[in-house]
Amino acid sequence: MTLNRRNLLVGGGTAAAAAIASPASAQQAAVQWTREVDVVVIGSGAAGLPACIVAREAGASVIVLEAQPHVGGHARCSGGNMPLGGGNSSQKKYGVEDSADLLFRDLTDWSVVQPNGFPDYRYNDREIIRAHADNAAANHEFLLAHGVVFVPKPADRQGGSSVGNSVLRTFHVAPADWTLIQTGAPATPAQRMTMSTGNGLTEPLYAAAKKAGVEFLLEHKMTSLFREGGKSGRVTGVAADNNGRAVNIRARKAVIIATGGSTGNVNFRRMFDPRLTEEYCGTAGMPYSDQDASGELAAMDVGAALWGLYNQTAETGSSITKPGQIGCQYGYVNLRWTPTSPMFSKARATGLRVSDWQNVITVNMLGKRFYDETGRQFTANSYKGVDPYNHGSYLNAKNLRFDPNNWINAAMQGIGDGQNGGGPIWAIFDADAAAREKWEPTPPNVDVDGGFFFSADTVGELAKKIKMKYQRLPMQPENLEETVGRYNGFVDLGRDFDFGKPRPLYKIAKPPFYAAWSTPVLHDTRAGLRINARCQVVDMKGEVIPGLYAGGESAGGFGMHGLPRCTTQGFIAGRHAAAERV
Ligand SMILES: Cc1cc2nc3c(=O)[nH]c(=O)nc-3n(C[C@H](O)[C@H](O)[C@H](O)COP(=O)(O)OP(=O)(O)OC[C@H]3O[C@@H](n4cnc5c(N)ncnc54)[C@H](O)[C@@H]3O)c2cc1C
Repeated sequence: MTLNRRNLLVGGGTAAAAAIASPASAQQAAVQWTREVDVVVIGSGAAGLPACIVAREAGASVIVLEAQPHVGGHARCSGGNMPLGGGNSSQKKYGVEDSADLLFRDLTDWSVVQPNGFPDYRYNDREIIRAHADNAAANHEFLLAHGVVFVPKPADRQGGSSVGNSVLRTFHVAPADWTLIQTGAPATPAQRMTMSTGNGLTEPLYAAAKKAGVEFLLEHKMTSLFREGGKSGRVTGVAADNNGRAVNIRARKAVIIATGGSTGNVNFRRMFDPRLTEEYCGTAGMPYSDQDASGELAAMDVGAALWGLYNQTAETGSSITKPGQIGCQYGYVNLRWTPTSPMFSKARATGLRVSDWQNVITVNMLGKRFYDETGRQFTANSYKGVDPYNHGSYLNAKNLRFDPNNWINAAMQGIGDGQNGGGPIWAIFDADAAAREKWEPTPPNVDVDGGFFFSADTVGELAKKIKMKYQRLPMQPENLEETVGRYNGFVDLGRDFDFGKPRPLYKIAKPPFYAAWSTPVLHDTRAGLRINARCQVVDMKGEVIPGLYAGGESAGGFGMHGLPRCTTQGFIAGRHAAAERV
């Protein structure tokens, strides 16, 4: 090999450190490559795993960089609900008639709106959706061929969102014998072919990737990209940090960004919604992996554009959710960390699962109620979500009854002091509520040490005890006492005169009293890098950045939730990356 500026290869990586901290254009002149390979995939989740397998099986040598000490990202934590559709073999087996054209039509139907008036599909990029629709069924067969097993039952509509109105598309990934990261143990015999879990997706794909010869570098966090000529030439590789050791990996053909989105990055997410300040700290999928926008930022640094930004702020689906568990930092409804999980030392508490929001009142930082606690989060379209359904017809919206589902917006309204963010939201309840819910409000069920759970013998004492990082003003005891007293009065009257909670049922009267973290949880990233139908990243002039691909939650233009779009984009990106001629 000729040693020149582009391919100087140095063993061990010790000499590469100087190249890491500077901007991409300046770095290029000094790059010392630690390793060299055809394709570098950044991230080992729903997009990264299919991408690396497809690229490797097409003949490319592949390295996957993964920031965490473990593989799988949010995909491993996920519920494994997989609404791919497009006329795949599982749909055919259960008699569902679907096609790429029908899937495309569904995912671009401007007329489908939610009861709050927000449309699911109107702002999807047609080119990106066409590519998804054309590859979704093939991706389904790819997953089956690489060890993913689906629960043997007909398609349903459980777990997907914004997945199309016309036919049933959701199948569920079975855990089989793989270890569940949530518990640290395999599923029970009764669950192994009945439950739906992302563990059954990432674990077999990881095994298949290793078998195919993909190399995984764990605890390698990509920090920047190299692009020849700063913002004009080819992307030639990545810089990564391996526990303080700088590593530069040259990608002869392509780099694929599959880093999982941006909701964990406060400044990045606030570009979409200024309300999303620091207290929204329990992002779904954490602490297993973060979504810190590192992929987006690195690509933007070499000229990439963002795309489809409406999808992030749209009040549909699960971008922002009501917590399913309270009294813990990580309250996303479909992810509970149990004490036997290897992640538990980071998660710290399992949380109290709320089965009936009549059992609590939710108050803001000041100790004041703000909405009917039984109010729901945003909804999303799925099979027969609009019924009767007429494709592209104004009647779809006309036939809906307006229902804004505003608990989340009310929780995020702030306290009127000119600052953004709703601040902490606390669920307040008493000993009787704990008994009704069968809660044991002690660690490890609740996070006392982290400041996400408090208890006291009086309501006033409880307010005084609430001190934690995000509670920027003390809760005045008289506020909480007044709130609880007024609510108890509504229970006597059988009517919530403030927020219209349907017949308030239970007084908050029996000590001890509790305050449990109940702040909205951020989940999906639905806007990101501009890509084209091949998943190539596109710049602000609308031109492809040679050698750079992206897929999954870091890619924009597609408002669907989760695994189907992410795995399919990985499947597409891997194929085209491997086919690059350089
Ligand atoms: C609890 C939960 C339940 C869910 N349930 C479902 C469901 O049932 N159905 C569904 O369709 N979707 C579901 N989802 C959503 C789905 O899991 C995600 O949309 C999907 O995993 C995103 O895929 P991705 O590849 O973009 O990101 P991820 O799967 O999160 O993978 C990204 C990977 O990149 C790594 N990474 C990030 N930055 C860097 C860096 N700088 N360098 C190196 N590595 C980096 C991360 O550590 C991570 O491993 C769920 C999500 C969660 C959290």
